[in-house]
Amino acid sequence: MTATAPVSAPTYHDIESAAERLKGAAHRTPVLTSTTANRMTGGELFFKCENYQRMGAFKFRGAYNAIAKFDDAQRAAGVLTFSSGNHAQAIALSAKLAGIKSTIIMPSDAPALKVKATKEYGGEVITYDRYTEDREAIGRRLSEERGMTLIPPYDHPDVIAGQGTAAKELFEETGPLDILLVCLGGGGLLAGCALAARALSPDCKVIGVEPEAGNDGQQSLRKGEIVHIAVPKTIADGAMVTHVGEHNFEVIRRNVDDIVTVSDAQLVQTMAFFAERMKMIVEPTGCLGAAAALHGVVDVKGKRVGILISGGNVDLSRFADLVSQANF
Ligand SMILES: *Cc1c(COP(=O)(O)O)cnc(C)c1O
Repeated sequence: MTATAPVSAPTYHDIESAAERLKGAAHRTPVLTSTTANRMTGGELFFKCENYQRMGAFKFRGAYNAIAKFDDAQRAAGVLTFSSGNHAQAIALSAKLAGIKSTIIMPSDAPALKVKATKEYGGEVITYDRYTEDREAIGRRLSEERGMTLIPPYDHPDVIAGQGTAAKELFEETGPLDILLVCLGGGGLLAGCALAARALSPDCKVIGVEPEAGNDGQQSLRKGEIVHIAVPKTIADGAMVTHVGEHNFEVIRRNVDDIVTVSDAQLVQTMAFFAERMKMIVEPTGCLGAAAALHGVVDVKGKRVGILISGGNVDLSRFADLVSQANF
């Protein structure tokens, strides 16, 4: 995609508006603490648990916020997106709640469970061959033919503003923090949370965390421009993106202090930690921020640290497989 139009970055005001729209629709998810995690790291950690959000991930916030802003013509035609992951379910559920149609373009080899969940929320699923067809071209064609509004998974101001409400809620509960750790795929969550941090805890260091195999965000921040990489091989399927979005990068380069990486092995250990010590299921991508703290990638000793846990959607058999590999 070429971008000729100037990118309009959302502001903290957009996050406040999003929070108003989400009232009564999104869950205000719990902020949990763990004495064991504090003892292991020497810091005071606050986990914002979006694995308990509706449909199991923070993606509901951005999708719902974007759809809530539709005018009558947009509502009549419905919403369209391409995603094989949590954004698909977020759009399908948000559209259902808004009483509008949704069409989701998914790869023909997407996990059956995800296709099923999306259909159960009332989404029309159109499949494509991910090796021979271009999903963005299909999206553009369908949106022209049907007049549906395309809401992409991260590169959109309303999506960023919606995701930022997660950190807004966290700071409202904890007060100012020293460090905020946020997982990074395309950068919707990180950009939104960074805006919230700047407004509510100006001295807080905001750090993005990516899988080691896909450090395009880290390269981009260091280079000052968006770097593209090949599809990374990692168990963090929510972060298997080739580059951050343009709207996202605009916010990230101004408001994010650093981007670090963690290994798949560290993610597995962190999943096991959450299951054993905190009795919760977190998907691999959801463990990125916590893994950076628990494995000392970011030094949190003596600091008050917010950690975004982004989601909990993982096949039980895959969860069991992964956790049984952990040795701690
Ligand atoms: C989408 C997703 C991410 C990455 O979010 P971005 O906004 O693309 O950076 C992280 N974790 C989970 C569970 C996700 O679904």
